[in-house]
Amino acid sequence: MPDDQLQRAQSLIRSIPDYPEPGVLFRDITPLLADAVALRAAIDAMIEPFTGTFDVVAGVEARGFLLAGAVAIAAGVGLVPIRKAGKLPRPAASVDYALEYGTATIEAHDEIHPGVNLLLVDDVLATGGTLQAAHSLVRELGGIVVGTSVLIELEALAGRALVGDVHAVFRA
Ligand code: AMP
Repeated sequence: MPDDQLQRAQSLIRSIPDYPEPGVLFRDITPLLADAVALRAAIDAMIEPFTGTFDVVAGVEARGFLLAGAVAIAAGVGLVPIRKAGKLPRPAASVDYALEYGTATIEAHDEIHPGVNLLLVDDVLATGGTLQAAHSLVRELGGIVVGTSVLIELEALAGRALVGDVHAVFRA
């Protein structure tokens, strides 16, 4: 995709200081999502290194869902949601992980099954805890993570150390 379209997408990521708490610089992708050209360029760039390698895309709740839906349609594959605890009626697996304060749990249904080739997507890679937990969840269900793709990697937080090889469209 043309560089100018990706530059436009990058320019539409808004940085909001002190949200949701003091000291956090929140990367707001809603202006990018609202722009048809930027959205298409960003989605194509998330898929590009993995074209033809995955049967299904999994998005992590909640903003990962927005990107995963678009990735699924653009790549011609199905979509599975990885949800926060208590949202799925019949979870097949759960993984607990550490947050800065306390813990969280993610769950999935058995559409993630042994041998499925899966692309994992989220909006932001920060400390990496969420995507590391998502990897564990997919593995627990026998799925194969063929790649991990994020829109934005916050390099200073070194999440890559936990998650391993991650494709990031933008680095901040
Ligand atoms: P982490 O587990 O620390 O890698 O955090 C990743 C999750 O938290 C992603 O699902 C993001 O949606 C969200 N997140 C963390 N930091 C930010 C940030 N600075 N701006 C926007 N979202 C963030």
